[in-house]
Amino acid sequence: MKMTNRTRTIIKLCFVIIIFSIGFCEHPNKYHNKSTSNGKTTYDHFQNNRSYRNKNNSRIKKIDNLKLANKQLELLQSLSPRDSSVIISGVVLNVLDGDTIEILHNDLIYRIRLDGIDCPEKGQSYGSASKQVTSDLCYNKQVDAEILDIDSYGRFLAKVKLPNGIILNEELLRKGYAWHYKKYNNDIRYAVLEDSARYGKNGLWVSQNNIPPWEFRNGPDNFILPEGVKYVASRYSKKYHLPSCKWAKKISQDNVIYFTTKEEAEDKGYKPCKVCIQ
Ligand SMILES: [Zn+2]
Repeated sequence: MKMTNRTRTIIKLCFVIIIFSIGFCEHPNKYHNKSTSNGKTTYDHFQNNRSYRNKNNSRIKKIDNLKLANKQLELLQSLSPRDSSVIISGVVLNVLDGDTIEILHNDLIYRIRLDGIDCPEKGQSYGSASKQVTSDLCYNKQVDAEILDIDSYGRFLAKVKLPNGIILNEELLRKGYAWHYKKYNNDIRYAVLEDSARYGKNGLWVSQNNIPPWEFRNGPDNFILPEGVKYVASRYSKKYHLPSCKWAKKISQDNVIYFTTKEEAEDKGYKPCKVCIQ
């Protein structure tokens, strides 16, 4: 069958119309709105977040959001002048634990780690209490996250401002549900807030035996790990473990043996645990 010139033109025209209408339906910058004030660049403000979220929940889930968000921030940072900070404004969709939240911004979900503080982990005393306090303060609220850095896990470290102007990071210290993360932050204000919460016995400071989250992550809370220790074992078993192994958590302080190297453990007749050591 031969196509006339007229038919060809009509087919081409149809293509153009289809491509144009796709472009209009899914314009990527539909909700994007950049504004600059006081040397700070703010990307996007959702006006109707709650209804937007409900209507678009299914669509949001489909986005491999974190990867996209990371990429987008890299781009934003490369575009921003050095002295201006990047602020991500949006509604808090999810509170993962005391110091980690997810914010919906410009159709993407950003995972934010609160900068300068460290909250008790899940499974640690006050872990769920601290998560609850963070939820009460920010869940479903419009916040401004000032991105300060990206950590080794690719999360954005941020100072998060609540609608009432209070800084979430500071409020958690004030209420006694976070440690000042001194290893990575030297803000004297944070140090003072933690100290006064300790003296006031606020939040977790009611208890005397708190284990800092960074120690908890490094090892089990059933014994304190001496400096330099890499592996542990029970004197009543023949397996050695990483301190973070679930089996290591079952060893009591009275029975634990410490090793600094695998060789040291194996010389003493211990075999590597198949769960935690490859
Ligand atoms: Zn193990």
